[in-house]
Amino acid sequence: IRYKEGKGWYDAQVMPRGPLTLDPSAAVLHYAQEIFEGMKAFRTNEDGIAIFRPEANARRFQKSAERMAMPVLPEKLFIEAVDQFVKADADWVPEGESSSLYIRPFMFANDAFLGVKPASEYIFLVIGAPVGAYFSNGAVTVWVSETYTRAAPGGTGAAKCGGNYAGSLLAQAEAKEHGCDQVVFLDAVKHRFVEEMGGMNVFFVFEDGSIATPPLTGTILPGITRDSVLTIAREQGLTVREEPYAIDQWLEDAKSGRLTEAFACGTAAAISPIGAVKTSAGEVKIGSGTGAGQVTGALRTALLGTQRGRVADTHGWVHRVV
Ligand code: PMP
Repeated sequence: IRYKEGKGWYDAQVMPRGPLTLDPSAAVLHYAQEIFEGMKAFRTNEDGIAIFRPEANARRFQKSAERMAMPVLPEKLFIEAVDQFVKADADWVPEGESSSLYIRPFMFANDAFLGVKPASEYIFLVIGAPVGAYFSNGAVTVWVSETYTRAAPGGTGAAKCGGNYAGSLLAQAEAKEHGCDQVVFLDAVKHRFVEEMGGMNVFFVFEDGSIATPPLTGTILPGITRDSVLTIAREQGLTVREEPYAIDQWLEDAKSGRLTEAFACGTAAAISPIGAVKTSAGEVKIGSGTGAGQVTGALRTALLGTQRGRVADTHGWVHRVV
């Protein structure tokens, strides 16, 4: 779908995937006006294909657009485009519990000029690819970066824009160098409070059965999985807190046993247990260090069950496409 100032959204079409032609001064290449979403289409138990909470992705996409001075795509158009993409590519939605069709809606500034100002022409596209499990080996190990932060107050941390990820690539490479699967970012002001991971939000489970996650203060991405986990956890009768959690506290609680589990959550990784947290001072195991604890396991079962149609969809989260 194209957008032009004064004309609005036009020229919606389904076309074979292929290269795009861009002018070398296309605004996105210089000022990074680009936003995206990540979603999944699943085969459900009843032989259908469903998408999880596309309205939530559509709304987050609108918020990202506002932050990046881009036009707001109506929710209906966003969902229709994703539906059409999935219908056209239904054969590419794989079978299997941990497989799905990853869907990537995105939008970028397309008009050609060199002044620093919001563009007036944009293209919205949907592409995708079949994917399997994100982490193959059970529990995830995370590296707490002391070198890099992801987003400062007033910045673009709450938007899903490409630039945020360009800035986190080196931090993710640093995590890999230390033998870890993911980077954990601390806040950019005090370098103390846990914010989120490279592409996931983070949750903590305590020995009293309560769970906590960092609050949405504008510097972390409001994950749709995060929101779903908060809802499911409350329904399971858990005490849920959205509150700042300092890295020194995390390490101390993990050592003392007050923290019994931690997990990462996001569209790509669903809910993945964190087995160990590593800093320059060394590695600290969480719980048994080997896999999902009881609370993480129950949340995961409920979330995946809803997505696959095994658990009643009491929130209207499952959007049937086929
Ligand atoms: N934080 C970041 C930085 C991410 O890239 C993602 C993935 N979109 C998430 C959190 C999790 O968000 P969601 O649950 O909507 O996939």
